[in-house]
Amino acid sequence: MTARIIDGKAFAATVRAKVATHVAHLKETQGIIPGLAVVLVGEDPASQVYVRNKGKQTVEVGMNSYEHKLPADTSEAELLALIERLNTDPAVHGILVQLPLPDHLDSDLVINAIDPAKDVDGFHISNVGLLGTGQKSMVPCTPLGCLMMLRDQLGSLSGLNAVVVGRSNIVGKPMAQLLLRDSCTVTIAHSRTKDIEEVCRRADILVAAVGRPEMIKGSWVKPGATVIDVGINRVAAPDKGAGKTRLVGDVEFATASEVAGAITPVPGGVGPMTIACLLANTVTAACRANGLPEPEGLTA
Ligand code: NDP
Repeated sequence: MTARIIDGKAFAATVRAKVATHVAHLKETQGIIPGLAVVLVGEDPASQVYVRNKGKQTVEVGMNSYEHKLPADTSEAELLALIERLNTDPAVHGILVQLPLPDHLDSDLVINAIDPAKDVDGFHISNVGLLGTGQKSMVPCTPLGCLMMLRDQLGSLSGLNAVVVGRSNIVGKPMAQLLLRDSCTVTIAHSRTKDIEEVCRRADILVAAVGRPEMIKGSWVKPGATVIDVGINRVAAPDKGAGKTRLVGDVEFATASEVAGAITPVPGGVGPMTIACLLANTVTAACRANGLPEPEGLTA
């Protein structure tokens, strides 16, 4: 069997188009322009690229983008004061603090200072608790993107066996919560899991969020399963020339795509969905803040 390739780039474009339509509707009918504030502390090159992309895509869908770039030696008090200003600014509907923060700043403290209603990353402890208890919350962007792709591929997920490999707070755990909410039978595997290959082979839905290049082989995949590869790993590519690299996922695509029913590639799978879902969360937050109906198909 050769798997269907799930085109995350194309799917993300449809999500952005839906967001843009809803933003235009909010402007026309309510005079509201959703606003996303992104806070970057320090000069980490990868973070700078992400923040630039977020700002660009925010403006492209018609929303306001507010970028706050602070020096690496910003104190906790200064950062918390900025977050407080953004919390009370009615033009700001979403706040994202780019992680990782420099070592002298306590990420948990900073994230938990964001108004949960504006926490478009879904990392605030209140949103984690709301998601865990099946209540309305802001949902972390990467798992939300995975869920949207799974629903698009499979329709109802009810009763399917889902295995999530990885138990991080930003991907693995919220992914498992979302799958449970959609009535999957969920197993979370991690570095201490025994017989992990056998556990994976039981999965109708296999989500890999490990951070280990091509760890999951085709022989671990149940024939016909839907495989979502969250991993983004840069590896040496000597075939492309000395010093060259390429991106690979946590799944060995060449072998897994021979067995799976559908699979996300890396790059071009989950990655593009993450920013699209950030935009979706921002428009959702703007609707909720104004007591308006939420956009259809953009929430969990
Ligand atoms: P973390 O490092 O926070 O978590 C990795 C998880 O994988 C841990 O729970 C760890 O288990 C588990 N793990 C590590 N080694 C093994 C192993 N040999 N067998 C089984 N489980 C193992 O990573 P993240 O969740 O933040 O990210 C995971 C991957 O997803 C990374 O490649 C990252 O770059 C990518 N990513 C992609 C995003 C996107 O937009 N596409 C967004 C976020 C992340 P334990 O807890 O036992 O240590």
